[in-house]
Amino acid sequence: MKNRIQTVQNNIKDACEKVGRIESEVTLIAVSKTKPLEMLQEAYALGMRDFGENKVQEMVSKVEQLPKDIRWHMIGHLQKNKVKYLAESVYMIHSLDSVDLAKEIQKQAEKVNRIIPVLIEVNIAGEESKFGVSPENVEALAREVSKLPNVKVKGLMTVPPIQVEESDNRKYFSALRQLSVDIKQKNIDNIDMDVLSMGMTDDYPSAVEEGASYVRVGTGIFGHRIYKTEGER
Ligand SMILES: *Cc1c(COP(=O)(O)O)cnc(C)c1O
Repeated sequence: MKNRIQTVQNNIKDACEKVGRIESEVTLIAVSKTKPLEMLQEAYALGMRDFGENKVQEMVSKVEQLPKDIRWHMIGHLQKNKVKYLAESVYMIHSLDSVDLAKEIQKQAEKVNRIIPVLIEVNIAGEESKFGVSPENVEALAREVSKLPNVKVKGLMTVPPIQVEESDNRKYFSALRQLSVDIKQKNIDNIDMDVLSMGMTDDYPSAVEEGASYVRVGTGIFGHRIYKTEGER
């Protein structure tokens, strides 16, 4: 795992150098979904502090058993009735995709007296099967969320289509960045557009070149996942 993390970090560094970015602008999230505690502990010992999970129950159980200085990122689709379980522990929710969900986050964040940072998940390629709002609806959602004092939009997130070639997703990363620039120019109160969460094991170098601030790498750090049920990735 040490070598894998080193490789990912080197690739991030190279991608930054290629386009004149500073390495510290990019944070590597270790996507630890389905992986046992021991592997997260190993990654922690190797210096990882940002972990990504896509299931609330799994995240909460890991939160309880791992060091308190870990930043937990919810990167999977979030159901309203589960928000209450992670309101206290989540560092950032990357998958805000509706006003209703934002209102529930507001309610639960208020209860625990905090402001929860969120990213709006954008279905940038317009895939039918994907979560996330379509690019043309992002601004309207941002304007609604801007009224909620305990929910703070920090930027955008996307999961582009699965591709064979790395370079194929570059246009989607670039489109997400452009969308964030467009929305930033609207100067919506209480809305930041400084964070872009994009890039996974197969395509994070091009995401970094296109401006990613978070890359979400699972397989590249922990190896392949084995699922008990179908229909997940
Ligand atoms: C699983 C997952 C990842 C990590 O995928 P890898 O290909 O294993 O790096 C990143 N983002 C989201 C939203 C995921 O669900």
